[in-house]
Amino acid sequence: MPDSIPVRKNDQIDVTFSDLTQDGSAVAKVNGYTLFIPDGLPGEQATVRILKTKKGYGYGRIAELTKISNQRTKAPCPYYDQCGGCAIQHIRAEGQLDYKREIVRDALERIGGFTGLQINPTLGMEEPWRYRNKIQVPVAWQDGHFVFGFYKKHSHDIVDMDHCLITEPIIDEVVQTARRVAEEKGITPYDEAKNRGTLRHVMARFGKKTGEVIVVFITRTEELPFRKVLIQTLTDAYPQIKSIVQNVNSKRTNAIMGEKTKTLWGRDVIYDRIGGVTFAISARSFFQVNPIQTEVLYGKALEYASLTGEETVIDAYCGIGTISLFLAKKAKKVYGVEIVPEAIDDARQNAELNKIANTHFEAGKAEAVIPQWQKQGIQPDVIVVDPPRKGCDGALIKTMIAMQPKRIVYVSCNPATLARDLKLLAAGGFEVKKVQPVDMFPQTMHVECCVSLEKK
Ligand code: SAH
Repeated sequence: MPDSIPVRKNDQIDVTFSDLTQDGSAVAKVNGYTLFIPDGLPGEQATVRILKTKKGYGYGRIAELTKISNQRTKAPCPYYDQCGGCAIQHIRAEGQLDYKREIVRDALERIGGFTGLQINPTLGMEEPWRYRNKIQVPVAWQDGHFVFGFYKKHSHDIVDMDHCLITEPIIDEVVQTARRVAEEKGITPYDEAKNRGTLRHVMARFGKKTGEVIVVFITRTEELPFRKVLIQTLTDAYPQIKSIVQNVNSKRTNAIMGEKTKTLWGRDVIYDRIGGVTFAISARSFFQVNPIQTEVLYGKALEYASLTGEETVIDAYCGIGTISLFLAKKAKKVYGVEIVPEAIDDARQNAELNKIANTHFEAGKAEAVIPQWQKQGIQPDVIVVDPPRKGCDGALIKTMIAMQPKRIVYVSCNPATLARDLKLLAAGGFEVKKVQPVDMFPQTMHVECCVSLEKK
C-alpha cells in the first residue's frame, strides 16, 4: 500500500481496469492504490473522476471510456444502473462464462496452490434471462410514494420497477398485479424507520416443471386488509396460482419472513420436479432458484459420484435433500445431514412423497453428526458436500479424510473457500480430478462449481 493517497476528490485521471469485484465494479491501480469504478471492464481504459478517497482505497466514476472491451454490451434492463440485483449485464454472455471460469482458476491457483489443473469451460444457459423461479419484492413508502422494487446497491432505498429481466415472466406479472391492487386499495406499505404500516414484501414462486405458482404476502400486521380482493383478482387472472399464503413478520429486522404463516387460499404448498424427483415447496422452504441450471449442476454431481447402485453416500449440508434424493435412485443408501431442522422435515417428506426408502436424514451440524456416523460404523464410498459460502468446517474436513471415501464431490458457491478446502483435502490424500464451473446466476458475479476428488 502506498504511503500517501495518490489521488484526490474530483481529480480526473487515466487508468486501465484490471479486475472485477463481487458487485461488478472494475478495479484500477494508481501507484499501488486501489480504485473501484462501477461499469468498467478488465482490459478497458478510461478517464475517471475520483468521487471519494479512503485510506486504503477509493471510488471513481467513468468520465470517458477510451478503450472499449469487445466483451462489452448494452445492458437490456432499464433499472440496471441503479438496481443492486445484477452486476454484469454489461458483459456479453460468453464473456461472463469466461470470466467465471477465470475466477475459479484464480482462486484455485492463488489460495489452493493448484497449478496446471484443467478447469472446464463454464456451463451456461442457452437463454440467460428470465430464469429465476422466485421473486421477493420489498414494498415501501419513499418520498410520499408507494414503491415496489429491489434495493439499490449497498442501500435500503428501493428502485421502483415494473419488471425484472432475470425473473420468470409469470411471477413477475403476478407480483405486479398484487402491487396494483395494494396501491389502488391503499394497503399501507411497511415503513422500516418507524416499524409501521402493513405490507412488507410480496413473494412469488413458480414450479417450472409443474407450472404451479405460490404467492406470499409478508405483513407486519396479523390482518391483511383487502385480502378478499387480492385473492379474487389474482386467482381470476392466473389459474396457475395454487396457493396464497400470508406470513406475519412484526419485528424490525432484515429477515424477510417471520415465524407465523397462514394459508389464505388453496394449498399450503406447490410442487416442482428436479431430475425426476418431486418436491413440495412451502412459503418458507429453501429451494434452488434456477431450476434449469440446478439440473445441470446436480447432474454433474451425479456424474462425478459415479454410482453403480452399491454405494453408501453421505450428503453433508443437504438442505431439503435435493442432492440426496437425486443420488438415492442410483445408490444403495444416502445419509443426509443439515443444520436447519425444518429443512430436514422437508427432506424426509420429500423422500416419502417420492417413495424413496434408502435415505436417512438427520438434523445437526455436519461436523458433529458425521463423526457419530463414523463411530456407528457407517463407511461412505462417496461423500458429497454443498456447504454455504464459508465452506466446510475444519473438523468436517478432518473427518472426511479419516473416513477415506473412494470419492468426494464438492459442490461450491464460493471459489475462495472451495480452494482453501481442496488444499486441505489434497494434503489429506485426495486428488482433484475434475473442476466444472456452472453458471447458476447469469448477470451476477456468482459462480457455482462442482469438483471431483479421488482417494490416491
Ligand atoms: N444441497 C442443498 C442446500 C445447500 S445450501 C440443496 O441443494 O438444496 C447449504 C446448506 O448448508 C444450507 O441448507 C444450510 O442451512 C446448511 N448448513 C450450514 N451450516 C451447516 C453445518 N454446519 N452443518 C450442516 N448444514 C449446514
